[in-house]
Amino acid sequence: MSGFYVTTPIYYVNAEPHLGHAYTTIVGDALSRWHRLLGDDVMYLTGTDEHGLKIRQAADAAGQTPQAFCDTIAPKFADAWTRLNITNDDFIRTTEPRHYAAVEELLQRCYDAGDIELDTYSGKYCVACEEYFTDEELLEDGLCPIHKRPVDHFEEENYFFRLSRFQDRLLKWYDEHPGVIKPEFRGNEALGLIRGGLRDFSVSRTSLDWGIPLPWDERHVAYVWFDALTNYLSATGFGDPSVDYTNRWPVDYHLIGKDIIRHHCVYWPAMLMSAGVDLPKGWAVGGWLLVDGEKMAKSTGNVVNPLDLIDVVGVDGFRYYVLAETSYGSDGDFSFEGLVGRYNSDLANNLGNLAARVATVVGKKCDGVGPAPRSDSPLAEAAANAVAGATSGWDAVAPSRALDATWGLIKATNAYLETNEPWKSEPGAEVNAVMGDALEALRIITILASPAVPQTSELIWQRLGLSGSVTDQRIPSDVEWGGYTGGAPVEKGTPLFPRIAS
Ligand SMILES: [Zn+2]
Repeated sequence: MSGFYVTTPIYYVNAEPHLGHAYTTIVGDALSRWHRLLGDDVMYLTGTDEHGLKIRQAADAAGQTPQAFCDTIAPKFADAWTRLNITNDDFIRTTEPRHYAAVEELLQRCYDAGDIELDTYSGKYCVACEEYFTDEELLEDGLCPIHKRPVDHFEEENYFFRLSRFQDRLLKWYDEHPGVIKPEFRGNEALGLIRGGLRDFSVSRTSLDWGIPLPWDERHVAYVWFDALTNYLSATGFGDPSVDYTNRWPVDYHLIGKDIIRHHCVYWPAMLMSAGVDLPKGWAVGGWLLVDGEKMAKSTGNVVNPLDLIDVVGVDGFRYYVLAETSYGSDGDFSFEGLVGRYNSDLANNLGNLAARVATVVGKKCDGVGPAPRSDSPLAEAAANAVAGATSGWDAVAPSRALDATWGLIKATNAYLETNEPWKSEPGAEVNAVMGDALEALRIITILASPAVPQTSELIWQRLGLSGSVTDQRIPSDVEWGGYTGGAPVEKGTPLFPRIAS
């Protein structure tokens, strides 16, 4: 059994879970579910980022201690992921002792390597970004390019990580590991940032108390990146001498948004190199789900609460939409019309209709008992193509491609039924053969679709009278044509995806 370790960014608890968080977390969940079907020993990690100035300010505004404030927000993320049927194996909070231990260990290693040094910094600082900007990076009127608000002039004594020393090493490493960032055009963005020149970055603050003190100088607390990025190591036991963190590390994929490429694909590998820790095996960079052409954020006010949409299209309808609608890596445009349109076409008209049709005809023409498929069925090739397409899609962290291949088999099976019209035929060998083929295709579809629509897949699995659970199935052995032997009662049940009036 091989291990598979995948992470989402940890989410900053200054806002409640929104569509952007849900998007990345659903992609990670579907990818994890796919790898469990492959028989991998999966660890799926998500969590919350709880330190920093913004949290301190939000807690002050709420009249709470920062810890108490975080304790009210972090469970909202955990609860949202439960409602979206997210199967994370761990949930890390940066206020946990195991995280402190990992951050201290990583900082100390980089300090001992001579790559963290004390210096004075002055510059233009956006409090909302928690980041300094050069004049070229600011908008023409001197505003923060992200928040479009004024920046402050800050000057303070900081420890700096000497990122500027890592340009050649990073370029060499990426050259030796082609394709490690998916999709490729996002990898090129990371290389462009490295080639453009690397500036040392600040890793500490004395002006802040809500953070992790540096192990060699407790006047300073660790600032954003050493604190946040290290969570991926904390969950492996890094920093705990009784645990071999390399049982999980290096990570297979960091799922990230395109706005944090610099930190994850430039800062993070340099930090790991300095500390003598192996680099990640992969990064998968997603675009933004835009609402009215803008990134959804608390500050722009166009926040869509994903949990509200579950009430309209169900958990699986929502999961399917975010996975299928946008090519991972590119920006997507979220719209309510798009959500309902895709639900009606792909789920109600295709998957839901196929499951209902098969059960209805088996009920009327086969006494409600599923017949066996033909070994030389015309659908066998379509099934093999769907398995191959889904496998290559998930392998490339391209959920929309994997689902497109899976839905190809749904469409082929619906077309097969329309061509043969078993509902018009008398019961007998011909109808049995057609329905056996359709049942076998539906069994395979149910396995392939389960990472995206887990509840629905399990329900179809039970209605087909198949033994065990869909999550017990293994790819490729259980998606080979002929796994269905027939003889089980098929139940129709209520519609899986009732059409929504649009
Ligand atoms: Zn800003």
